[in-house]
Amino acid sequence: MWGSDMPVQRDSNSVQDQSDSLPDTSSRRLLLRQRLSIGLSLILILVLALLGVRLLRPQSAIGSSLPSQGYVLPVDSRQLVVTIQPLVPSAQVQALLPADSASLAAARELAASPAGLQLLCDGLEELYPFSYRVAAESLRIPDSIFDFERQQYDTSELLDWLKTQTDPSSFRTAGVLYCDVYDEGYNFLFGQARIAGPVCVISSNRMGREDSGGRLSPFERWRNIVRHELGHTLGLQHVDDRDSVMAFGNSLAELDSQGAELTKSDWKRLEELHPIRWDGR
Ligand SMILES: [Zn+2]
Repeated sequence: MWGSDMPVQRDSNSVQDQSDSLPDTSSRRLLLRQRLSIGLSLILILVLALLGVRLLRPQSAIGSSLPSQGYVLPVDSRQLVVTIQPLVPSAQVQALLPADSASLAAARELAASPAGLQLLCDGLEELYPFSYRVAAESLRIPDSIFDFERQQYDTSELLDWLKTQTDPSSFRTAGVLYCDVYDEGYNFLFGQARIAGPVCVISSNRMGREDSGGRLSPFERWRNIVRHELGHTLGLQHVDDRDSVMAFGNSLAELDSQGAELTKSDWKRLEELHPIRWDGR
């Protein structure tokens, strides 16, 4: 492209000299063509340089939520750590909870016992092939996040607070608690996440309540909700397909009627969103 249509390679001074001494139209045309050619070449260089910068830029911009270490992309999914962080109430809130409730005992078993947390990690790993770890210490939730009148924690505030508490080497953090939660406009929630955010919060409080057809066990419901919220943190939105774990569930009955897996189109979306090599897929 470098002036390939030019009859002679010359610098602009010599062309200028020539045009002064030979004021005929062909030499002016030659000068014009040369300047045009230089101009076009400069534009081409600029475009290529910009393109190069785009291509060389680390792809972590796509999965901007990848931890900041120097990963070779695409990163192997097993290199990414998802932390399960138990969140526990203060003694003051604890004292308000019904001591003899069977469903609360079941909720505690799911979200606060070592066996329950390990079972959760296994259930998550079957879907998302990350590495999982349960945080060594539970986090005490500040009482300011608890609505004493409603006796529920506010999920938006939980998310904001949890974000300030996470280990930066974690790819995602799922805060799990057995107390009931809500957000403005909802009587209760099972969990909440912000799309592509670093954290989600999930409550096991209602998993053992008896107001559904009972197709799924409390653990299966719990696992599916955590899978669903983790899916949001990975950038997935709700889908209409009830076979997908990303379908929206507004009640235990709805929760029991939806799938536990991601569909092909959910996976396609994840592959578009992240420079991750999904182990085993
Ligand atoms: Zn959702």
